[in-house]
Amino acid sequence: MIEQALNPATFQDLKAHLHGELICPNDRGYNASRKVWNGMIDTYPALLVQCANVVDVIHAVQFARDHHLLVAVRGGGHSVSGSSVCDSGVVIDLSRMKGIWVDPGQKMAWAQAGLTLGEFVRATQAYGLATTTGTVGGTGLAGLTLGGGLGWFMGKYGLTIDNLLSVDLVTADGRVLRASTSEHPDLFWGVRGGGGNFGIVTAFEFQLHPIGPVLAGKVVYPVECAREVLRFYREYTRTAPDELTVYASLMTTPGGLPAIAISLCYCGPPEEGERAVAPLRRFGTPIADLVRPRSYLKMIKQADLGAPAGRSYYEKASTLSDLSDEAIEALVAYSTACTSPLSQILIQHVHGAATRVGPTETAFALRGESYIICMLAAWDDGEANRHIAWTRACWRAMEPFASSGVYVNFLGNEGEGRVRASYGVNYERLLALKNRYDPTNFFALNQNIKPTIKEGEPCLRQV
Ligand SMILES: Cc1cc2nc3c(=O)[nH]c(=O)nc-3n(C[C@H](O)[C@H](O)[C@H](O)COP(=O)(O)OP(=O)(O)OC[C@H]3O[C@@H](n4cnc5c(N)ncnc54)[C@H](O)[C@@H]3O)c2cc1C
Repeated sequence: MIEQALNPATFQDLKAHLHGELICPNDRGYNASRKVWNGMIDTYPALLVQCANVVDVIHAVQFARDHHLLVAVRGGGHSVSGSSVCDSGVVIDLSRMKGIWVDPGQKMAWAQAGLTLGEFVRATQAYGLATTTGTVGGTGLAGLTLGGGLGWFMGKYGLTIDNLLSVDLVTADGRVLRASTSEHPDLFWGVRGGGGNFGIVTAFEFQLHPIGPVLAGKVVYPVECAREVLRFYREYTRTAPDELTVYASLMTTPGGLPAIAISLCYCGPPEEGERAVAPLRRFGTPIADLVRPRSYLKMIKQADLGAPAGRSYYEKASTLSDLSDEAIEALVAYSTACTSPLSQILIQHVHGAATRVGPTETAFALRGESYIICMLAAWDDGEANRHIAWTRACWRAMEPFASSGVYVNFLGNEGEGRVRASYGVNYERLLALKNRYDPTNFFALNQNIKPTIKEGEPCLRQV
């Protein structure tokens, strides 16, 4: 135990300096604090530092560095792989840092890194504003943003990172830097898609946009129609305007019926939205048509119900530039072979503004129009091996149709080759940044870029 291994005075010193809380294995609240969204992750950190402010983050970093401790950084704790907690190390937990300030005049928000998407959207929607976020309210703003951020407004406003104006970041040597296009622009480039490799982001500044009620929801069909629905989906997405983002999912309805759903969100004027949705309303014989004007906040909060914390999850993802008939056949076959009614195959169409940014303009390289396929196994029955085997088999079946690129936020612990593939053309530039800002790989628990710095080469102290 770390308390025994360290000089007690040092340990007390950290505690005395914190505005937040230090949680050790014998403390009440340890068990609740070590848990993350994915119930499969069961790690036992030596310490959790629940930071209340930037100064706490600096203290935690310095403490971990001085004592050579493994560090995990936690935002919303939603990564399926559980990379925000660890065994026997220090968890620097930002989830108490929930400050947010909205400037309605400039349409900007300054948001601390402990906010969930739901909390962030609640604050911005109070002013009728929003920006691209993920689809599920409980997801952490920090991890989502640092990986890129796909969401309902990506066609119109780009990814979450395309709306990022600046970050405040604590480096591995405990300094606070602001990164933007004018301050540390190299670092700002890297945090837009490079994950938590370069430091701990304590706050983000975002550009917002006027967003009123959106026309959104899903149209559900019986699984027997899956082939036709996916072919329709392919054509429908090919002509979708920027305002319309459309996903498809092979899943089981709450009533236990295997089904295929087309989910959408139109963020432009409602009359034009009705016109854009009309082809879908005319297609086939759905079980349910739930598309209607909705509040964006309610929409992402409601999505939490489908992804409750504490359930076991396993995920793999592929990126397809097109949905060929053969790929559709494979998807339908694996959805039929699905081992749990809680699992799903989700297809996310990346288009519009998100694809009009060049692959090297930010660290997020996957800028081509694409379909990101997520095989998300979910279960409560303790039969992990069976469900994981289904996910892997489904992913293997998609490989002949997939490009090598994979969205970093949907990547599990899949080895260095997949990490390199996810950063794609940007890998070498990211590596140079890692060598510069984190040459000792202090921030290693992420989709990690391993530094290659050699003695005598420039490192962070010379920045
Ligand atoms: C139910 C669900 C729905 C999702 N939907 C979407 C979606 O619609 N769009 C999308 O793009 N993604 C989506 N994702 C993926 C999501 O973006 C990632 O899981 C993301 O990592 C979650 O961020 P977090 O802060 O909650 O995660 P955490 O587990 O806390 O962190 C994830 C990684 O980011 C690092 N990190 C977290 N905070 C910081 C920080 N402040 N500074 C430096 N590093 C940090 C962590 O160390 C870790 O490596 C979804 C995930 C889930 C589980």
